[in-house]
Order: sequence, then C-alpha cells, then structure tokens
Amino acid sequence: MFSPGDIISYLEMCSAEGVNLQRGMNYLLGNNYSVILMSLRANAPYTDKIEEDGKILIYEGHDIPNRINGPIPKSVDQPMINPGGTLTQNGLFYQAAKRFKVGNSKPACVKVYEKIRPGIWAYNGLFNLIDAWNEESNDRKVFKFRLELVDYKNIEKETLTKELEHERIIPSAIKLQVWKRDKGKCVKCGSTNNLHFDHIIPYSKGGSSLVVENIQLLCARHNLNKSDKIE
Ligand SMILES: [Zn+2]
Repeated sequence: MFSPGDIISYLEMCSAEGVNLQRGMNYLLGNNYSVILMSLRANAPYTDKIEEDGKILIYEGHDIPNRINGPIPKSVDQPMINPGGTLTQNGLFYQAAKRFKVGNSKPACVKVYEKIRPGIWAYNGLFNLIDAWNEESNDRKVFKFRLELVDYKNIEKETLTKELEHERIIPSAIKLQVWKRDKGKCVKCGSTNNLHFDHIIPYSKGGSSLVVENIQLLCARHNLNKSDKIE
C-alpha cells in the first residue's frame, strides 16, 4: 500500500490496483473503494482544484468519449447516463455522493492518484466523496465532486502499515518544482527508486505543504530513517 506523497510509475500504480488503469474515474474498482486519476498540469483535460490548504479536492467529471462522427466531447454536457441507460462513471460517483448527503450511507472511499509527468504519478491519499453537483462551464454542464482527505490519525492502525504524518496534499505546482529541483532523485543518496515527497518539517509540527523549501524528495529508506528519528 502506498502512502500519500509516494511517487510511483504508471506500472506500479496499475499493479497495485490489479488492472490496467485507462480511465480517470473508476467507481468501486476495489471491493470497498474507488479510484480516480487527476492531473493539474497546464495541459490537463479537466479542471481539478485543491482547496483549503490541501484538505479538499474538487474533481471535475468526465466528458463523453470521443467517437468518429460524434460530437466534440467538450461541446456537450457531461453525461449522467450512457446511451444504453446505465449510469456513467459521473452518474455512479454522483449517486454515491447523494446517498451520503441524504444520510443513506457512509461516504464512498476514493483513492486519488495524480499525474506529475508522463509515466510518473503521485499517490495523493484516501478521500471521502462528500458532495457532487452540476455547474455551467463554457456553455455546457459539467459534474463537480467534492472529496475530503481522510484524516489518517482517525483510521484504525491495523489498516495502515505505518502511522502517517501527512494530512495535506502537496499542490501540483509545488510537486513539479520539487521534482525538478531535486532532479527526480533522493536528496540524501541519489536513488531514483521508491521516491516520496517528504515534508522537511511535518505538517503536524507546523511545516507547510505550500512552499517548495519545505518539501524534498526522499527514497523509501531515507524516508523511513527520518520517521524513526521523529518518534
Ligand atoms: Zn535515499
């Protein structure tokens, strides 16, 4: 299992999920969780946003598939229902959020992966899907989903391999700058394997997720050494 801030390849991400991840939205991909892929890069196809200092993710729903002789996906409303009458991924996530809002179920649990660069992904953590709505965007309707980062301190310990420090997402722009500054290597040993975005001063001790000076790349070994020292 990955920890928030882990940097992984596309293949590692797919092998962790046991499928070849092709779609951005994957409702109930696992037994009791869903998976979404996001990208906040300048040329990303959807406008996802991180709010409230990294605790809230606003994720945009997805367009109709691009088909020969079909409409331009960005010119029509994002669909709730497939042509055959089943719910689209937008519809599945939307209904789950509404079930939670009216008190009929616990929030759906969603794992969020973020594309940093081609082939390079970060695990952003586990989120609760707490709201969904439709809004106007460039003369059409799009879905928006509100996801709240799960507070790891409240998760029972047996579900985690270790106590996690991170309670905030590191914004994408910061991730990219840190990746470039540290040249995609552990700052201690130069390893390019099992990298992790590390808070130099932990969030819980007042360190910020929002400044590049407080984030560095560490390999798994040096990340582990560091958490031993903090104990
Ligand atoms: Zn290292």
